Amino acid sequence: MEYIILDMEWDSAYFVPEKRFINQILQIGAVKLNDAFDIVDTLDLTIHSSFSKRVSKRFTNLTGITKEMMLSGVSLKQAVEAFNDFAKGDTVVMTWSDSDLYAILDNERMLLKDVHFRIEKYVDLQKYIQNELRLKGHEITSQISLSAAAELLDIKIDDFELHTAKDDSTISALLLKKCYNKERFCTYIKDTSNPEFYKRLTFKSYYIKDFESPEIPRETFYFVCPLCGGELKQRSKWSFHNHSFSANFDCKNCDKKFIGRVSARKTFDSVKLRKKILEKKPREEKDDLQPLPEKV
Ligand SMILES: [Zn+2]
Repeated sequence: MEYIILDMEWDSAYFVPEKRFINQILQIGAVKLNDAFDIVDTLDLTIHSSFSKRVSKRFTNLTGITKEMMLSGVSLKQAVEAFNDFAKGDTVVMTWSDSDLYAILDNERMLLKDVHFRIEKYVDLQKYIQNELRLKGHEITSQISLSAAAELLDIKIDDFELHTAKDDSTISALLLKKCYNKERFCTYIKDTSNPEFYKRLTFKSYYIKDFESPEIPRETFYFVCPLCGGELKQRSKWSFHNHSFSANFDCKNCDKKFIGRVSARKTFDSVKLRKKILEKKPREEKDDLQPLPEKV
């Protein structure tokens, strides 16, 4: 098995047929690694835009790719074909975070006909390296940048040009070599031919707004008093605001008022429920939640 690390640079440009800005891929770089994770081949292509004669200033500042370089590049189709030739055989393709895959999907759909990046086995290298860093005792809460990961792993990157596809993929290779663990790495390999792979990738999570939704177990809406553990009496209807449902509650034992909150975020695999009960400060006691009708 061979390993390919793919990196791309893209620029946001207005695409008239879709009436929106899209991230057009303007450079791809890739390295091929052998079983010892040494680089055995490289690919480095700048791509001629299919619809724009310019590049943004921000893009040039970040990547060093000028308008002239872009205009003398190969077509996106040629670049993808060159990559596919580079990645043929039994390969695992990696990118630093799956955001590259969104760019690939967008570019394929809008700018390419009948040509697709050949990515069959895929690893989100950022996800893998982050896990390895955590196992080494580093606390990582948000998505880590390539340079930050290199620093934590004591990899010198002064001689590289960050944000060029070739050097970013080379740095990624050094990171992988330093962090490779066969058993754990294998669990990160995804089969992109499984239809679920792209369904999961493109699924957008959302907060459930419908109080009656069968996806929220009814018991989620019951609360006990956080002070005495006794039963709370619901004093208002549930209302939805800022991603969560709220209602007022009273505890007779403690003579205290509370607000109960429930949020339910639908993800591809599950519904993430969060609930909390907060005591109301006296000044907050007047509220705008609709009271429950009196029982007769
Ligand atoms: Zn109580």
